Amino acid sequence: MIIRLRGVRGSIPVPGPNTVKYGGNTTCLEIITDEKEKIVIDSGSGIRQLGLDQMAEMPVTVNLFITHTHWDHIQGLPFYTPLFVPGNKINIYGAFDPVYRKDIREILAAQMEYCYFPVRESELNADITYTSLQEGEPVVIGSTQVTPILLNHPVLNYGYKIESNNKKFFFTGDYEPATNIYDEADDGYALYQEMVDKQNEIITQFIYEADAAVMDAQYTKEEYVTKKGWGHGTYDSCIALAKKAKVKQLFLTHHDPTRTDDQLDTIFDDLKNTYPDEDGFILSPAKEGIEIVL
Ligand SMILES: [Zn+2]
Ligand SMILES: [Zn+2]
Repeated sequence: MIIRLRGVRGSIPVPGPNTVKYGGNTTCLEIITDEKEKIVIDSGSGIRQLGLDQMAEMPVTVNLFITHTHWDHIQGLPFYTPLFVPGNKINIYGAFDPVYRKDIREILAAQMEYCYFPVRESELNADITYTSLQEGEPVVIGSTQVTPILLNHPVLNYGYKIESNNKKFFFTGDYEPATNIYDEADDGYALYQEMVDKQNEIITQFIYEADAAVMDAQYTKEEYVTKKGWGHGTYDSCIALAKKAKVKQLFLTHHDPTRTDDQLDTIFDDLKNTYPDEDGFILSPAKEGIEIVL
């Protein structure tokens, strides 16, 4: 399969001269399976150009998986041209939000109400289906399986594992690894730590020996101290998980919107010194436009 990174920025699109190298569009991954099935993960602003590119292949069938419905993962959808064209089939998958008791269609349609956008969801001309996913239950597309796993974030967030032709790819969506909320001296520490360790082990097994993974690493460990609970991982937490799970190629994404190309260059130069490519482990920054071929 081929995975193209169409948007690697976290939180909000940041166009301009300081984001040309890594890209300013928010999250979108395009996956083409060996059988040429089209899978897309997330519809951040990166999906706009993808839609324009797909217009050359119409009619298209696209399977769009939403990790979660924070703005930066859905804000491009109203600008995804294939939705407007009859003959296209767009299958949209995501979670049922248990807090607001809304399914993925209701949440996506809400951002196309007249107070936000001039065309309503009900006016889209493509054949659109919506499916609420259950954790661990795979969706089968041709000979490819897409399996969701629940990952810690302030809203229900699914990471997705894509298995095709004996290759395994994983994307976290937005993910902050669980940490112990108690101090070591507190009564509840040991029990809570057991829960954290168990959760980390489930995730490790889920992605074990993935050929490639794209993970949310918005913060440095120094920045994380004041951003705890905001829902994102650090460079080091992603690398630790990937190494434990024997992931072969790790791409770090969801770059903070304040990060310039020069700053990202410096961060990744340092990371490559600390974590050199060895023992079959390769670390790379996610960059808009690159292709991962598995
Ligand atoms: Zn995000
Ligand atoms: Zn988020």
